[in-house]
Amino acid sequence: MPEGKIIKALSGFYYVKSNDKIIQCRGRGVFRKHNITPLVGDNVVFTAENDREGYIMEIKERDNELVRPPIANVDQAILIFSAKDPEFSPNLLDRFLVIIESNHIEPIIVITKIDLTNDEELQNIKRYAEIYQKIGYEVLLTSSITGDGLEAIYPYLKNKISVVAGQSGVGKSSLLNALHSDLKLETKAISKHLGRGRHTTRHVELIEIGDGLVADTPGFSSLDFIDIESDELTYYFPEMKERFADCKFRGCLHDKEPKCAIKEAVENGEIEQFRYNHYLMFLKEILQRKPRY
Ligand code: GDP
Ligand code: ZN
Repeated sequence: MPEGKIIKALSGFYYVKSNDKIIQCRGRGVFRKHNITPLVGDNVVFTAENDREGYIMEIKERDNELVRPPIANVDQAILIFSAKDPEFSPNLLDRFLVIIESNHIEPIIVITKIDLTNDEELQNIKRYAEIYQKIGYEVLLTSSITGDGLEAIYPYLKNKISVVAGQSGVGKSSLLNALHSDLKLETKAISKHLGRGRHTTRHVELIEIGDGLVADTPGFSSLDFIDIESDELTYYFPEMKERFADCKFRGCLHDKEPKCAIKEAVENGEIEQFRYNHYLMFLKEILQRKPRY
């Protein structure tokens, strides 16, 4: 039986891409019986009555599953921040990184609107870019207006399912539109002009950009640490994770504990003070969280 990937779900139909053809499929009754919903991103086995229509017979095991937007097998999050308008926020960036890392999804950082910066602002952004690159993250500087830096994004998309993330107004839709000239996602400027609300899209779709697939709806909109325990947080700061084993106490939270390898690394400048401050801030949030049950 042929195999393919669901790239769109709409009104009970699943659009399965297989060898450059798109087959409109229904789910097998047995999925409904067992309360299994095929998701966009699922790799499936299907039967095709003809070139256009078929039935999904089997859903392959998922690597992961996002709830919002509902997508399976997400490889990568393209974390979008603007250099300006809205102002670049390392705090918000670290928050997104922790949430994305905790979902075991690889982030890449794209800083847009580089065209709006003056020399001093650009230097500042580049300084941050270097800090995050040193930690091990990919950081790309772009402008969707001038096209600067866009080419460098395509290799990262290749053979992956990516989801964009980032606060409203940073240029997510503009970036996807610029990367994919056939695409016309509604940008802020247009929706304001038409005077209607954004996010009117009710379905999710994977769009082909270069040799990859990108979700047309942003993810990771909820930025609380609801699913993260205090002793996990270190793992989502890569530069802390790699030094964690040298802390004297097992289960060290790198706060008041003595002989802490993380605090030592902050003192001698190997870990950025602001990253550590954010770690402590997030830790406090997690510790003060009301019990869930
Ligand atoms: P989204 O909410 O993240 O999808 O942001 P939009 O793509 O709707 O962009 C928000 C605003 O920023 C719009 O007015 C865009 O025209 C503008 N914008 C987006 N990218 C850039 C850029 O690279 N340079 C400049 N100067 N403006 C941009
Ligand atoms: Zn420690």
